Amino acid sequence: MSTVHPTFSPRLLEARDVVAGMRLFRFSSPEGFSFVPGQFLMFWFCDDPKTKRAYSLCGDPAHAGRYFEVAVGMVGAFSERLGRLAPGGEPGLTVSGPFGRWTYDGSLPHAVLVSGGTGIAPFRAMALRRAGLPAGASARLTVCCSARTPELLPFRDEYGDWQRGGAEVVARVTRPEESSRRWKGPVGRWSAADVAAIAGDPEAVYYLCGPNKMVAELRDGLLARSVAPERVRAEKWGDYSDLF
Ligand SMILES: Cc1cc2nc3c(=O)[nH]c(=O)nc-3n(C[C@H](O)[C@H](O)[C@H](O)COP(=O)(O)OP(=O)(O)OC[C@H]3O[C@@H](n4cnc5c(N)ncnc54)[C@H](O)[C@@H]3O)c2cc1C
Repeated sequence: MSTVHPTFSPRLLEARDVVAGMRLFRFSSPEGFSFVPGQFLMFWFCDDPKTKRAYSLCGDPAHAGRYFEVAVGMVGAFSERLGRLAPGGEPGLTVSGPFGRWTYDGSLPHAVLVSGGTGIAPFRAMALRRAGLPAGASARLTVCCSARTPELLPFRDEYGDWQRGGAEVVARVTRPEESSRRWKGPVGRWSAADVAAIAGDPEAVYYLCGPNKMVAELRDGLLARSVAPERVRAEKWGDYSDLF
């Protein structure tokens, strides 16, 4: 039996920049809406129904009955058209979903989430899901973020909330020389050796999200370190590794 995914015209409640070049959109939810972190929606405009783009749900699943959020990097024609939307002015925007089985529901003993740039979007929903678990829950969650510069780390101002919600958060920057701010943390892209060392746990399950090359290299590196294939869950978004 095939699953029916609702299609609806969402109402934009608010939009704001997360960092330069990345906007967060909050839409009101249709009746009965829910999702599992890691799932995504398909977006299109009714004047161009063949151009569809996927965006990961990045808000708190506990609030899905009222609103949902996506965070979008402004990188091309579709994302920039979305970026021009303002509350009350989203004519023809259409959404379908949620879709996807690359999910985290808080039941794993230890999940390690590794992202590049905007790839943090689904991991924000996962960190918020972790924070919503009952006090004392044993689900360990390690969030590994990265961006070119400290000011481009998306949702950096929320790391404290994620940590209070039970997640460990570690960030790297890949091009500190492009920033005027001092960065005392680690530098360079995440490697399989880095994330395996941070996890320190042969039973950890890795979620990888971001540019194709980053995800493929991390996946290969983890498999080469004898991590079982079923413990590496990769989500590739596109071919844009040169941005990191
Ligand atoms: C399952 C899934 C979930 C996704 N979730 C998100 C999300 O939550 N947020 C998000 O911003 N994107 C997400 N994407 C990527 C998104 O669907 C589009 O590919 C992206 O917005 C580019 O579309 P465009 O028409 O603006 O640019 P295009 O003209 O289609 O692409 C322009 C260039 O940007 C590259 N690119 C694609 N995605 C990104 C990105 N995120 N950052 C930098 N460069 C990129 C493309 O590979 C291409 O080289 C997701 C993709 C998939 C498959």
